[in-house]
Amino acid sequence: MQPLIDNARTHGQRPEEFAPLAQGQSPQVLFITCSDSRVVPALITGARPGELFELRTAGNIVPPYASEHPTSEAATIEYAVEVLGVSDIVVCGHSHCGAVGALVRGDDLTAVPAVREWLTRTEPRPTGAVEDPCVAEGVQNHILAQVLRLRSYPFIDKKLSAGELTVHAWYYEVHTGSVLSHDTASDAFRAL
Ligand SMILES: [Zn+2]
Repeated sequence: MQPLIDNARTHGQRPEEFAPLAQGQSPQVLFITCSDSRVVPALITGARPGELFELRTAGNIVPPYASEHPTSEAATIEYAVEVLGVSDIVVCGHSHCGAVGALVRGDDLTAVPAVREWLTRTEPRPTGAVEDPCVAEGVQNHILAQVLRLRSYPFIDKKLSAGELTVHAWYYEVHTGSVLSHDTASDAFRAL
């Protein structure tokens, strides 16, 4: 923890760099990814403060849209799309994902009931090669399922129909730093 505290202490030594951010934010991109510490959106994209609006959940799950009982995730997505007016949404899953791996393997999650309950929100359960430590197939299937879920949100469906929004499906390799993007024409993940 100490190195992080030391860095936080010196972070504000160039206040002129941050002063313009007081004017507000107008990010163009909502970046939805896993909470995994190996995935650092600003590092991957080179984004500066104010450029990426982020939603991070265990396993980058986009829960079902439920207007009567809105989730925190739905509120974050709605704010990004309806208030900030982002033009693009990236759903970025990653290799070696613990959450998706647990689903693919069918792990016993009795000891972590909150995690177990959260992961049930990703029906259908992702499938893929169980022996692959990257869980590449399972994660890529999972990413596409989250994109479909996102498309079921009414305000997103409306923006997509109007051509005002683009949704990207990315797969990030934590062990190489490479990003693959889903190509709809070939239905395959390819290098960006
Ligand atoms: Zn993960």
